[in-house]
Amino acid sequence: MAGSLAITRRGFIGSGGALGLAGISPRAMAAILDPAPTRIFKGARIHTLDPAIPSADAIALAGSRIVGVGTWAELKTLASAGTEVIDLGGQTIVPGFNDCHLHAQGEMLLNAVFVGNPFEVEFYSIDRIVGLLKERAAKTPPGKLVSGEFYDDTKIKDGRPVLMADLDRVSTEHPVMITHRGGHTFVVNSVAFKLAGITRDTPDPFGGTYDRDANGNLTGRVTDLAIEPIMAKTKEPDLTPEQKRARAIAGAAKISEEFVRYGLTSVCHSGQGLSPFDDVAAIQQIRREGRLKHRVTYEPDSGFLDAMIANGVRTGFGDEWIRIGATSEQTADGSFSERTMSRSTPYPGRTPAYYGNLTMTQEAIDALVEKLFRAGIQPNFHANGDVAIAMVLSAYEKATKLLGPADRRPKITHCTNVSPALVARIKALGAVPALFTSYAYYNADKFHFYGAEMMEHMMAYRMLIDAGVAVCAGSDFQPGPFSPLMGLQGMVTRKGWNGEVWGASQKITVMEGLKVLSSNGAHASFEEDLKGTLSPGKLADMVILDGDPAAVDPEKIKDIRVAQTIVGGEVRYKA
Ligand SMILES: [Zn+2]
Repeated sequence: MAGSLAITRRGFIGSGGALGLAGISPRAMAAILDPAPTRIFKGARIHTLDPAIPSADAIALAGSRIVGVGTWAELKTLASAGTEVIDLGGQTIVPGFNDCHLHAQGEMLLNAVFVGNPFEVEFYSIDRIVGLLKERAAKTPPGKLVSGEFYDDTKIKDGRPVLMADLDRVSTEHPVMITHRGGHTFVVNSVAFKLAGITRDTPDPFGGTYDRDANGNLTGRVTDLAIEPIMAKTKEPDLTPEQKRARAIAGAAKISEEFVRYGLTSVCHSGQGLSPFDDVAAIQQIRREGRLKHRVTYEPDSGFLDAMIANGVRTGFGDEWIRIGATSEQTADGSFSERTMSRSTPYPGRTPAYYGNLTMTQEAIDALVEKLFRAGIQPNFHANGDVAIAMVLSAYEKATKLLGPADRRPKITHCTNVSPALVARIKALGAVPALFTSYAYYNADKFHFYGAEMMEHMMAYRMLIDAGVAVCAGSDFQPGPFSPLMGLQGMVTRKGWNGEVWGASQKITVMEGLKVLSSNGAHASFEEDLKGTLSPGKLADMVILDGDPAAVDPEKIKDIRVAQTIVGGEVRYKA
């Protein structure tokens, strides 16, 4: 790094280039006009991820921006009487982590019955699950739905999944449903089937199944779209609009606290289909109250998306705290963790041959992509299996051919099962895949369903990075825990909580993983000039860690303590 003048000037250019001056908050503007740092951290190991600043031990912040990164000897000349200098005594600073796909249902964290652990690997017994649901049933009017969340079929102490007969022990007066944390499969009791008029003779609908045992009887497991007739006939207890609003606001505040606790400074919220306006209103409300701790890229769904298109609102609308990103994930197929994703070859060991569930037709994907390209909205499809990924790529290719090339960065959420041919198509389109963050560690107990060979093509970080694709990562919470450090450990080691290694050919380095978790996330939302590296002019979004992920035993990365999370120059979390 050169002296202070170059630092200042770079800060100015970086900020203006990213936002246009009109988009800069008064505080940030003050920082740019008078870059005397408000705070300098020194004595740190800093992974800037900026190739122009390969090494640094100090970083200077002015208001919400970074104004200098370099050695303490260089930066101390910037300090004025009002500058607070903090010696970190060897702690590590990395750019704030960016989760590019999850479902930010804080309301669920506050109100749901947990039949699994949202954040960590933990096994539950079926008796415990039944007991928790019974407690809720006792407080629920008969006939209303009793539901449980964060169910994980391979983390059950009994060594088998929950079945209809287990949930019949909860209640014979309430429909009971547990949702797999993956979100694509469910287990229901007899009452729920009865209310929906589903029997052993009901055929499987498009895009889903009612699973049956060897005798053809319903097991209680329902996959993908087959849940819709049951959802239509079972209802949660009614809440007043005021209660719903209060829950949405409390939930938004709760999950924001959780995000910064784990070092997440930016998060893509995949829109909730049911009440998108409440959702966004809640985020705005907590921001007004000073309780929004992370930056939100909101990904609109259904009515919200239609309203945007009708009114000419495009991706990028908003400011550096709340902005519109791509669409919510448009679900083209089933699930990786729940083994319903669409595949070109059948699942090993299943009779009759099972290829997974497709949940959209090619025509529907094509039509939506063309509409979004025309509207200037970044498309985003959930595609796990190679068949669904190929369908989504084909739609992106057709619309690109029709409307001409442009910098659209169409998103593919999960993009789990790829081949070199699919990767080449992703690269050619400039598409942005958001692979699972924490699955390599958290879900290793499920990969034997796919087998060693297939797993070399799953969550293929190595293949995508080698092809020059700016791959980013999304935890998909509730499906995956959102700890970025748990994610990083899995990317680097491909070793699960159970000690099993799956897909070792797809390992990446710690520095590559940090890039996936920050700079590539910024690129995916067109914000690379604003965040993702620790560079002068960018937002002061960073995480102070008690250990250096590049120096510790890779199998202990997830245990590194997040000491502080700083967003926009302010400490939003302190351990
Ligand atoms: Zn999702």
